[in-house]
Amino acid sequence: MMKALFFNVPSSGHVNPSLPVTAELVRRGVQVIYYLTESYRQKVEATGAEFRPYPAPLDDTLFDGLDGSKPPLTAERLVRMTHALLPALEAIIHVEKPDVILHDSMCPWGWIAAQWCGVPSVSSMSLLLFTAPMMIRSGMLPAIAQAMVTQTGSIRTYGRIAREISARTGVRLPTLAAFLNMQGTITLSYTSSMFQPLAAAFGNSVKFVGPMVEPRPDAPAFPFDQLNGQPLIYVALGTVINHNILFYKTCIAAFRDAPVQVVMSIGQQTPLDALGTLPPNFIVRPFVAQLEVLARASLFITHAGMNSVHEGLYFDVPLILVPQQTEQTFVANRVADLGAGVRVARHTPENLRHAAELVLTRSEFRQRAREIGESLRAAGGVKRAADEVIALM
Ligand code: UDP
Repeated sequence: MMKALFFNVPSSGHVNPSLPVTAELVRRGVQVIYYLTESYRQKVEATGAEFRPYPAPLDDTLFDGLDGSKPPLTAERLVRMTHALLPALEAIIHVEKPDVILHDSMCPWGWIAAQWCGVPSVSSMSLLLFTAPMMIRSGMLPAIAQAMVTQTGSIRTYGRIAREISARTGVRLPTLAAFLNMQGTITLSYTSSMFQPLAAAFGNSVKFVGPMVEPRPDAPAFPFDQLNGQPLIYVALGTVINHNILFYKTCIAAFRDAPVQVVMSIGQQTPLDALGTLPPNFIVRPFVAQLEVLARASLFITHAGMNSVHEGLYFDVPLILVPQQTEQTFVANRVADLGAGVRVARHTPENLRHAAELVLTRSEFRQRAREIGESLRAAGGVKRAADEVIALM
């Protein structure tokens, strides 16, 4: 029996796309041992993989206080964590003797473990692969340049600890930028070569397998019988930064009198009564069966999380993009550049209503969403992802 180790980081956006691939490998007879924090035990065990909790100090606070605007600090945090995990990693690879190691792209200790024991690595890339033009287009360049200046201490610490790790393992660590977006012997990218900017520049080792859109037996029930056939607008800000009462109220003001129905997912932290009396054309829930709602939607107003955008486009739904942080800005810009949606910078009822009218009435948005959706569905999904891993093994 082939044996795989999977190392991931405690963040749903990174974990979720890895689960269908894991389940498919298990189904094909691969033994998968999956390392993550205790709070993900149930989700991992549902794939059939063997769950193992990380040893201290890795816990759910790994990314606390970090976002894409602080690359040096993020690299410092991850390299320190890698260093702290070395004794545990050494014991794991010695005992388990894996045939392959899968790891999230922000999980460098998985990549190092693979080099250390001389087996191929598979990077699970749940973000867009990073390119310099993306950075320039995002308008974030000044902020990131400033971060590089103000966080030079972190850059030096990265270099110092990277050298210590190399001395201990014999594995040479890459530059700080590559360390934050770690590619493997092969890399599973959950988008299509059409959606990834400059896809051809990444060579054959990157496998664009498309999003992992699979049935979700644990999705909550939804009153689909209440949908009345009017154009359906779905609003959701994902699962992390979604406590935004003002934004939800703006959506209500924008669409309460419009000839549309709106399904709004507001997250677990926003109490329903904080939104006041809901108009009859709104259905609001803390969490919905997103894939099933998208399958019926005409427009998706999204925070441009990587998963949400790909799920929307997979169902040919054009988008209004309201990114909340750096990585989401990259994704939102890509959608806008490809013509499948529009970005709204100032969130006023008028701006949202105007953007919605534009996207709903101009057929080219739906047409572009359909073309990207076609590229995502054709990318091969979970079956191809598992084929690639098994071919590598
Ligand atoms: N999601 C869902 N129901 C909801 C809200 C979100 O099923 O009501 C799922 C959605 O399908 C997606 C994930 O949560 O797979 C959100 O991931 P994304 O990368 O878009 O955003 P994040 O939560 O990481 O900010």
